[in-house]
Amino acid sequence: MNELRELYQQMIIDHGKNPRHFHVDENATHIKDGFNPLCGDKFRFYLQAKNDVVESACFKGEGCAISIASASMLSEAVKDMSKGEIEKLFNDFHDLVTKGELDDAEEKLGKLSILGGVAEFPSRVKCATLAWHTVIAALNGDEKSVSTE
Ligand code: ZN
Repeated sequence: MNELRELYQQMIIDHGKNPRHFHVDENATHIKDGFNPLCGDKFRFYLQAKNDVVESACFKGEGCAISIASASMLSEAVKDMSKGEIEKLFNDFHDLVTKGELDDAEEKLGKLSILGGVAEFPSRVKCATLAWHTVIAALNGDEKSVSTE
């Protein structure tokens, strides 16, 4: 189990240092800012979506390793997903990072399940969920920026 935890930790550090999809998209159909004042994580998400289905997602900004890793993995995961599917995935992800367990977590969340360790650090849950709140708000067309406060 320790080895597994170490592997997970390395994946988080890797995504935190070398985030995927970390760029601006000039052709984005949805742009949304998200801010976690508790930690200082601050991102702008760029989505290309058609009929509620995300065709691509990317982001720019700064934050701690957990928030960046979560945003990086989310940007990979949501490609070709509908808003409803993303909301369902977020429900599962939220359960995992708040409760620390979820039935069939790997099956339901894939790589995202490695962030489950965050449940041991309640103050970091907002770091892990900021990207999700931001992407869902973007798809909902909310006017306001997202703040976890
Ligand atoms: Zn953070």
